[in-house]
Amino acid sequence: MKRKWGLLAGCLALVALIIGAVVWTQSRHTNVRTAPATHNRLTKQDVTATEVKVKPWGKLKHPLQLPILMYHSISTGNQLRVPKQQAVAELNYLKRHHYQTLTTTQAIRALTTNTVPQKKVVWVTLDDAYTDNQKLLPTLKRNHQHVTINVITGFTHKSDHLSLAQMQALKATGRVDFASHTVQHLDLNALTATQQKQELVASKQWLDQHLHQNTLLLCYPAGRANRTTHRLAKQAGYRVALTTTEGVAQLSQGRYNLSRLRITPGMNLTTFADLIRVTNS
Ligand SMILES: [Zn+2]
Repeated sequence: MKRKWGLLAGCLALVALIIGAVVWTQSRHTNVRTAPATHNRLTKQDVTATEVKVKPWGKLKHPLQLPILMYHSISTGNQLRVPKQQAVAELNYLKRHHYQTLTTTQAIRALTTNTVPQKKVVWVTLDDAYTDNQKLLPTLKRNHQHVTINVITGFTHKSDHLSLAQMQALKATGRVDFASHTVQHLDLNALTATQQKQELVASKQWLDQHLHQNTLLLCYPAGRANRTTHRLAKQAGYRVALTTTEGVAQLSQGRYNLSRLRITPGMNLTTFADLIRVTNS
């Protein structure tokens, strides 16, 4: 009898041990399963958030042709000044026809990697940083568009040129970025290498410091530059530079020798549309 009870107790103990082992294993299993499940959920959310912010860019088969528009003052009076009404009509045209207006960073990325956020892209630039450029801000905000203003850093105290405070306010809107148009707007071709270097380096330093950025774009005064300028621009830390040579920009022109399209006063929308029309594929 005693032996029977002993055997039963032994069996019970064994069953308890097996049940315990099974429960323990299952609970471990469940824990292991829950951990990555939670992790996966978080990862998926992160990816979704990234996707909303950054659209994937498409690689082009053929070299990008980028229309870089060149404006100066938004006013009237001479062939360099485009009236506000015309400039606004042109920005509205770009919006209506689904052109994306690139930032400097985006334009450099597009040109140097031959990728685009979408097929129809333009880069709108305004030289000399006149105060009247501010007239375009309501349109830029309404259309969610972007322009790049090329600053003569030695002119920011002049009444018809943007002050630092005005530039900071424009930059804060996210609709405008700023690049170098040198310190004194001199013909770089007529300067010695040392003088050229001073114009390129000091203007970049001023913009970098005051606008808390790394200035990557240089725009040559009157479009004039030579091989020495190209070399010095690269050394100073600029990634690309713009000329006033008429044409659609392509990387084959050289990073420091990109063409632009001059927008003249009185140009009608049909001419404007023909000027910027390119086929990227
Ligand atoms: Zn200029």
